[in-house]
Amino acid sequence: MLREYINSIVYDEDNYELEQEIVRKYPVLRASRSYWIYDIPRGWLINFGEDLVRDLNEAVSKYNSLIEFNILEVKEKFGGLRIYIGAMNCNIFFNAVNEVIEKYEQLSFVVCVGCGNPATKISKTWIVPVCEKCEP
Ligand SMILES: [Zn+2]
Repeated sequence: MLREYINSIVYDEDNYELEQEIVRKYPVLRASRSYWIYDIPRGWLINFGEDLVRDLNEAVSKYNSLIEFNILEVKEKFGGLRIYIGAMNCNIFFNAVNEVIEKYEQLSFVVCVGCGNPATKISKTWIVPVCEKCEP
C-alpha cells in the first residue's frame, strides 16, 4: 500500500483517500507542516521512497516520540538528499533517527534523480546524480 502511495506521488495521481489511510499507518509522514514526501525528487522516490518512510517511521515509533520529531525541510542540495530535523531532547532517539536519515542521504548520491536507476554521472547543468538516459 505504501508502494502504491509513493507511485501516486511519482505519477502525480489523485490520492486523497489513500493518503489518509497511509498517514494513519505511517504518521511520520505528517511530522512537518506539509507532506515532506512531496519534496523528494522523483527518481529518489522511485528508488528508496518506500524504504525511507518505513525505516523512519520505525525509528520514530520505537521511541514513541512523534510529537517531538519534526521535519523542518526536505530538499536536494549539491546532488544529495537533505533532511533537516528539529532539535530533540533525547540523544538516543536523535541518533536512531539520524542514522536512518544519513543512510538515505548517502544513497541519494548514487541514484538518478530522474528515474531512480543507478546514477552514472553528475549532471553538468545542475549538480545532481543522473543516468545516461536522464542526462539533459
Ligand atoms: Zn535516469
